Amino acid sequence: MIQGSCLCGAVAYEVELIPGKIYNCHCSWCRKAHGAAFATQALAKGDTLKILKGAAQLKEYTGGRGVRAFCGECGSRLMNYAPDKSQYLSVALSCVDTAIDAGPVAHANVESKASWHEPGMDIPSFQGIPDGALD
Ligand SMILES: [Zn+2]
Ligand SMILES: [Zn+2]
Repeated sequence: MIQGSCLCGAVAYEVELIPGKIYNCHCSWCRKAHGAAFATQALAKGDTLKILKGAAQLKEYTGGRGVRAFCGECGSRLMNYAPDKSQYLSVALSCVDTAIDAGPVAHANVESKASWHEPGMDIPSFQGIPDGALD
């Protein structure tokens, strides 16, 4: 289990990550939602998610693709999920407080990356989602 929280501390959660499934997502939804060139998202086992505090502050935005959950107080992006969280859930690694000894394995959705940013060459880049990412 890892724990994560938002900037203001109102919302905290714990969840079990899926090993080896950390991606830098360059899709336009992630870029806008996070206000960044890309979002580093770690896939997690949705049925292990436990909101430790701030369930009332955890807001959902459902435009674009799937559900994006964020703190309604400070705006921190915390996680994305399918309507059925057991099907898909990823957490914004930047809001994870537990030290983890793994990093992004690939860049995803680079076809919609920012024109002003070039993904690092240290890990492979994929159009769309890498094969097997969601298995
Ligand atoms: Zn907050
Ligand atoms: Zn994305």
